[in-house]
Amino acid sequence: GAGAGGVRASCAACRRAGRDPGAVRLLPITKTVPAAILRIAHQAGIDAFGENKVQEAVAKHALLADLPVRWSVVGHLQTNKARFLPRFAAEFHALDSLRLAELLNRLFEEEGRTLDVFVQVNTSGEASKYGLEPSALPAFLDELTRFPALKARGLMTLAVLHPDVARVRPCFERLRLLRDQAQARHPAIAALSMGMSGDFEAAIEEGADVVRVGRSL
Ligand SMILES: *Cc1c(COP(=O)(O)O)cnc(C)c1O
Repeated sequence: GAGAGGVRASCAACRRAGRDPGAVRLLPITKTVPAAILRIAHQAGIDAFGENKVQEAVAKHALLADLPVRWSVVGHLQTNKARFLPRFAAEFHALDSLRLAELLNRLFEEEGRTLDVFVQVNTSGEASKYGLEPSALPAFLDELTRFPALKARGLMTLAVLHPDVARVRPCFERLRLLRDQAQARHPAIAALSMGMSGDFEAAIEEGADVVRVGRSL
């Protein structure tokens, strides 16, 4: 694929933004990619994969159980799928309700494990997008402190899907400002998970710490 090109482009975006390329984590999103290909990717040095369909992730994890891979779940999670996460997931990028937080906390506590979480915020105002309203975020983050198995690491968003980057960028700016406010109260909430194949350069320029890139790899 165009992986190297994508990585070079993101390095260029880092330079423009005056950021160290090492400070931006590229999380490969591997939905629909067969386990056999992931095994080859692992041999090539990739040790983290992000998936958005739980059943698919569980199956791949089982096939690759011999490899030291860090698995992330990205995107909205139905509560009836939550029970599968403790067996494979290290990280979840899309926490968007207290009900889900309560459930995940109980499931991970039962296994004596913790889960790194990114709280999803709806920064585009689109009704079709999941995520908390920005105004609901402060109270939500206060509530999260009740769940010791969930380690809140940062905020996550899906920007508006638009070819004009000037329309996309405000979503990333909004998330960064929300993170600054959140971090003042909860220092661990430090990272920004934002940017995908179509918009990761703008996301990096606006401060992304994790970009979730699938198609363009
Ligand atoms: C699929 C997916 C991505 C990656 O999208 P690409 O456009 O393939 O780069 C990122 N985040 C989430 C939540 C996804 O579901």
